[in-house]
Amino acid sequence: MKTLTLLHLYPNEMNLYGDRGNVLAFYRQLLLRDAQLNVIHASLGAWQTSYNEADIVFMGGGQDAQQSTVVEDLHRHKADALRQLAQEEATFLTICGGFQFLGHYYKPHNGEELRGLSLLDIHTIAGKERFIGNVVLESSLAREAKTLVGFENHSGLTTLGQGVQPLGRVIIGKGNNGIDKQEGAVQGSLVGTYLHGSLLPKNEWLTVHLLNQAWQRKYGEPLPALTQNLPQVEESFAEKAHQEALLVAKSKEKR
Ligand code: GLN
Repeated sequence: MKTLTLLHLYPNEMNLYGDRGNVLAFYRQLLLRDAQLNVIHASLGAWQTSYNEADIVFMGGGQDAQQSTVVEDLHRHKADALRQLAQEEATFLTICGGFQFLGHYYKPHNGEELRGLSLLDIHTIAGKERFIGNVVLESSLAREAKTLVGFENHSGLTTLGQGVQPLGRVIIGKGNNGIDKQEGAVQGSLVGTYLHGSLLPKNEWLTVHLLNQAWQRKYGEPLPALTQNLPQVEESFAEKAHQEALLVAKSKEKR
């Protein structure tokens, strides 16, 4: 069976708000296409040769304390190999604290600056306010503009440098810094965002988009079509609830 391998970085330390849900969404989408997701956990400690197989690299969010716990290990054991995978255009999906680590640095309220991998030209400085709540974005990652919904909780304020595109334009919520209406970052095959564990389960198109990117790289052909139908009743209820919630949120925003 054709397989994609996902390297899950620091699954115990960097896992806020069900960020693992994103891994499950990848898994389910491949299963419905008679393909398989092989998940490898990269915890604290030495880089293993099996990690080099990664088609997708995933890192979830973590509070400042967890970020401080993993930062030394990240540079000592993982940084060079991750840079190599990025150069080879593996797909990266990183959330919140994981997103901040792809940038140049994160300066928390207390304590020293945490150096990032500088894979994305972004930097993050802790702000006074914590941004918590539901988010709606308009994303131009796919060919036509599409909506993304999700949940953010961060005090880090991220600024994008040159050559980095936002993942989306903020319609509802705060996004990267509450000022420029940008959310997340995209640079080549790397994606970072503040939207947590419900990101891929709630936004099927993004799951398929990222899987297709990884599949094309590995197999040189598009992601296979669905071979099993999604449970239509559940999916249509979910879609209806989704649309209703969007309408309510948008009308509140206008007031
Ligand atoms: N420590 C970071 C912040 O608050 C990341 C938090 C998170 O991953 N939810 O900005």
